[in-house]
Amino acid sequence: MIRLSEVHLSPEAETLVLGVLRSGRLAQGPMVQLFEKDFAAFAGTTHAVAVNNGTTALVAALEAVGVGPGDEVITTPFTFVATLNAILERGARARLADIRHDDYTIDVAALEAAITPATRAIVPVHLYGYPADMTTVEKLAERHDLAIVEDAAQAHGATVEGRGVGSFGTGAGAAAGCFSLYATKNLTTGEGGVVTTDDPAVDDRLRVLRNQGMRARYVYEVAGHNYRMTELQAAVGVAELGLLAGRTERRRANAARLNEGLAGIEGLGLPPEAAGRRHVYHQYTVRIGLEARLGRDTLIEGLSGHGIESGVYYPRPLHAYDCYRSHSRVLVESVPEAERASREVLSLPVHPWLADADVDHIVTTVRALLA
Ligand SMILES: *Cc1c(COP(=O)(O)O)cnc(C)c1O
Repeated sequence: MIRLSEVHLSPEAETLVLGVLRSGRLAQGPMVQLFEKDFAAFAGTTHAVAVNNGTTALVAALEAVGVGPGDEVITTPFTFVATLNAILERGARARLADIRHDDYTIDVAALEAAITPATRAIVPVHLYGYPADMTTVEKLAERHDLAIVEDAAQAHGATVEGRGVGSFGTGAGAAAGCFSLYATKNLTTGEGGVVTTDDPAVDDRLRVLRNQGMRARYVYEVAGHNYRMTELQAAVGVAELGLLAGRTERRRANAARLNEGLAGIEGLGLPPEAAGRRHVYHQYTVRIGLEARLGRDTLIEGLSGHGIESGVYYPRPLHAYDCYRSHSRVLVESVPEAERASREVLSLPVHPWLADADVDHIVTTVRALLA
């Protein structure tokens, strides 16, 4: 079976983890510091704060930029549920705006229309590893004095005009970028997360918040959390971060081969890559339109029959679930593109451990089924 994702940790990770195990220092030590220094350099920010997962990265970042009860935060309904849960966890209201048809990221016109006097922050999601239109989002945030909290959980290393995701936001509003290091993400520590920022005040608040609100030993400044990353996770992160650039290149090469092989099939939409935006292909997601020869479910079965796993991210927009539809703090705009995308998207394997022959098998099979 060609799987949608595979995890292979490096010998470097084994060596560093063993070193941590033998050191006896499993928390709040030098490895977390080293990981933060390396990750900030990777993301192109002055600060990075390691936390225990991508969801707490979002919660802490929202809190650090000042989001709380009574505030509104704008994001899209076509994302992993953690984006929304983090906003609700802060006691804020989530306003869900539509996505763009061509790249699944937030539609800037819909975003602007969703701004109210209560809006405090924007959470653009770089879905599948493709960066949202951050140049425009940044201008909008500046004009309306809004904070930006990027959900870059799927997009380590994606760039817009050469700037890394997680580094956007200038001017009046505070800004932070949130990455997940979950097992299947482009960079993993098993569970883990990291928040990037260029704002020293945000960095400072994040460090206090993740450690029980403690400024110095038993000096509490605010009611905080335990969002700390362990030394073991950080050791994996340090080793794997060193290999990420090569793995991303491999994802991009696999995507280019898929793009070439799958071009020109009736009803099959290929992933976007606009000029100036670098996709890191957390997922290689196609659209199965109404003109396609098979419906999505039939195609999934056909692929599976030929040993190819595929996946639907995500089968429903978030407001289609009862727990959010009936939630008093979830406000949904008109979102036809999010609804349509949930019916049409399909992700095919693109991970770095695919051989060229695997990619060719995917191409041949999709062609045989659809063309
Ligand atoms: C994975 C993910 C998260 C949450 O990260 P965890 O590490 O699983 O908590 C948030 N947003 C998006 C878009 C994700 O894909």
